[in-house]
This record gives sequence, C-alpha cells and structure tokens, in this order.
Amino acid sequence: MPHTSSTLFDVAIVGAGPAGCTAAARLGDAGLRVLLLEKAKAFPREKPCGGGITARALTRLPFTRDLLREVPVNALSKMYVESPDGTGFEYADPHGDPILYLVRRIDWDAALFRRAGARVSELAMGAIVTGMVTDPDGVTLTCASSSENPDVRTFRARVVLGADSANSVIARLSGLRTGEVHGQFAVDMMEETPYTQLDTPHRDRVTLLLSLPSSYGYGYIFPKQNHINLGFGSGPDYFVEHVRGRAKQHHLGFVEQMKARGFATGESHPENYRAFPIPISGPLDSTYADRVLLAGDAAGMVNAFSAEGIYFAMVSGDLAADAILAAHRANRFDARQLASYQAAWEREIGPELRHSVAIQRRLFTEPGRVNSLVRRATADPELKSLLCGYSMGFSTYEQLRSHMARVVMPQWVWGKVTSKARALVGA
Ligand SMILES: Cc1cc2nc3c(=O)[nH]c(=O)nc-3n(C[C@H](O)[C@H](O)[C@H](O)COP(=O)(O)OP(=O)(O)OC[C@H]3O[C@@H](n4cnc5c(N)ncnc54)[C@H](O)[C@@H]3O)c2cc1C
Repeated sequence: MPHTSSTLFDVAIVGAGPAGCTAAARLGDAGLRVLLLEKAKAFPREKPCGGGITARALTRLPFTRDLLREVPVNALSKMYVESPDGTGFEYADPHGDPILYLVRRIDWDAALFRRAGARVSELAMGAIVTGMVTDPDGVTLTCASSSENPDVRTFRARVVLGADSANSVIARLSGLRTGEVHGQFAVDMMEETPYTQLDTPHRDRVTLLLSLPSSYGYGYIFPKQNHINLGFGSGPDYFVEHVRGRAKQHHLGFVEQMKARGFATGESHPENYRAFPIPISGPLDSTYADRVLLAGDAAGMVNAFSAEGIYFAMVSGDLAADAILAAHRANRFDARQLASYQAAWEREIGPELRHSVAIQRRLFTEPGRVNSLVRRATADPELKSLLCGYSMGFSTYEQLRSHMARVVMPQWVWGKVTSKARALVGA
C-alpha cells in the first residue's frame, strides 16, 4: 500500500539542487507550505560539476555572498583560453576583481540545502519521483525509495516545480520535453582530486581549451581551493563512438595530455571520475503547463557555449518562485496564469541562452573558426575582454557581435582584399 501524505502542499519542488533550493527558500520565506522532494538520501551529496559560479550571481542573488563564506572557495580573476592550433592568451580582470568563484558542488549544494531546508514545511529525502498525475484540484506525485525496493509514497500539491536535473522526470511526464534525447545533450566528464595527488601549476586561473583538436569539444582545468577539477565535454556522437564503454581509459588519456602540456602534475585517480549530461540545445520551447513549471537543467537552461548552468538554475528558480507566488495570490494554477514565468526568464536570460546555442554550433563544429577568433583576440584587447566576458557572463553577445561587425569583420575583409591584390600584382 502506498503511504499517502494527507497534506495538500501549496507547492511541491522536485530536486534540491541550485534551482530547487533557490525556489524553496523564497517560497518558504513567503509563508507557503512547501514540500521539497530529493532523491538523495541526505546532503552532502555528489553532483558532477566544475562548480564555477560567475561573479554576476553575487549581485543578482545576494544570498550567494553569505553562502560563499560558508564553503571553501577559490575566487579567480584570471583565465587562459586556447584554440585547437595551440594559440592561447591570458585575460586578467583589470581591477583584480574575481570573475569566477570555484566551489565543490558537494559543499555548495549542502549550503544551499541547509538554507532551503530551514524554510520549507516538509522535506522528503530519498524520494525518487516516478509518477505525476494532474487533476482539476492539484497534482499527485508518486515516489519510490529506490528502483530495487520501491517503498511507494504519494504527495499532493497545488503546483509542482520540476528542478530535477538534465534527466528530468517532470519534464517528460508533463510533456514539456519530448523526442530523442540524443542531440539535446552533451556529456561532460570530469575528475575532482585533492592537490596532494593531482595538481596544476596554474592555481590562479581557469584554463579553457576550446574545441580540442581530438574533437572532445572543450577541455577545462578548474583549480578549486583544495582540489583540481579537470575534464572535457563532448557531443553525443563523439561520446557514443569513442568514450562509451571505456570512459575511464579515455579520461586518463585526457589527463596525460594535460600533463604532457604542463597543465597538470601528479596522478589521475579514476575513482574520482564522473560523467553527467549537460543540456546543449537551449531552453525548452515551453517551460510551463497546467500546475507545472520547470527550472534549471530540467528546462534546458544552460549556456551551451560555456556549459554554465548554476547561475541559470538559481535565477530560473527565483523567477519560478515569483510566478508561483502570483499564482497563489490569484488562486489559479492553470497554464495561462503560469505563463508569466516564461515571459520573465525569456526577458532576463532567454537571449543569452538562445545565442549560446548558435555560438556553440558555429564554433565547435569548425575548429578553424576558433583558431582565427583566438588569434585575433591575442592582438585585440577589446575582443579578448569581450570573449572572456561572454564566457564569464560580464559582457553580452550583442557587445561581442557589435565589436565583430565594427572592427573584426572589416579587418578580415581588408586582409583578404590586400592579399588578393598582392597576389595579382605578384602575378
Ligand atoms: C561535469 C559538469 C561540469 C559543469 N560545470 C559547470 C560549471 O563549472 N559552472 C556552472 O555554472 N555549471 C556547470 N555545469 C552545469 C551545472 O552542473 C548544472 O547546470 C546545474 O547543476 C543545474 O542545477 P539544477 O538545480 O537545475 O539541477 P541539479 O544540480 O542537477 O540538481 C537536481 C537535483 O534533483 C534531484 N533529482 C533528480 N531526479 C530526481 C527525481 N526523479 N526525484 C527527486 N529528485 C530528483 C537530484 O538528485 C539533484 O539533487 C556542469 C555540468 C556538468 C555535468
């Protein structure tokens, strides 16, 4: 017999990651009866991630300032960018201000969870949501404790927020994510190991290797306070053909490359290796339905070029909380009422998320484009700053595009014309 909770919660939030915890804390503070469901049995829990939080989070979501004081963090003001042909440049914030805060997700998510857990009415831990049925009065969620031993529990709420990651069950059950997953996700494979075992001589900068020659997609080295985090992301085709079934050997090959390049020293520890999907096809066309909203990875809200998702998860969780509060005040939870959520995120983060897909498709499918962009940036400080700014969230695609149109393209055209003219004269 399923164990059924008799409470009708104002909102059930599925997933206690950055999206779910941000929404839960806001809604709990506002006095709503909030149920937070999480499949992990307890926090801290692992989440494969680079843990890079861009500096804009501190302004947009002021609570992150307090949380950053609770966890080990390496605040970086420098980054190194390299193209497939080995051309590289270093960028440093002109004032020495941090552009990226590196945390371990095991610490960061535990801090987010402590904050949210103290504000919600009920926590259901070890609750794997497997079923959702919507009726005119609410939503019923069915949860299992584990796939082998399903100790079924059911919960009811007026509205559900799906913040349950890239593999979101709520996105599927609500019909908001449909179709083949292949092509919608990249796979990011990483290792997080203490410096006593695997180290980098560059603990003061983020290293980004754009479109690695062996076509991984991208590689990165994130030096955290006490751990190195290094890995690479690849498209689904590359993953299926070259990585699946021998992921650890493949990862080892990547680490050996990094060591040979002088980017890392020491030994890889395969037990610290993890892989996880990242949505790379942009936000879902629709992120709301009757009594359902989606936030964070569940809604595809990741910058497809930089793989940044923590900021977008927290912002979308915050905006989802606004929409749920408005729905609660209106006592209406139909799709029309909840559409304000989509309008809000489209306004604030939609352009960046959508442009990132176009940039990723243009750059990562043609290494020559990355080579020429990085080469130009080495001689053009403004382009360098705009490129780094775009990947760290402090400049916009419009600024980058405008600089390309005003300065880079005319130079490129002029270069072509003069070399043609020289060739003609020479002939
Ligand atoms: C290897 C890797 C490196 C990355 N590096 C960065 C980076 O440096 N910076 C950055 O900003 N982003 C990075 N990202 C992206 C970032 O990790 C995600 O975008 C972010 O975690 C999304 O947050 P979320 O709250 O939407 O989902 P998640 O963080 O995935 O949290 C979802 C929660 O839901 C729970 N859950 C899942 N299914 C269910 C269920 N059925 N029932 C109940 N609970 C469930 C999970 O246990 C989890 O706690 C990286 C991703 C990967 C894979």
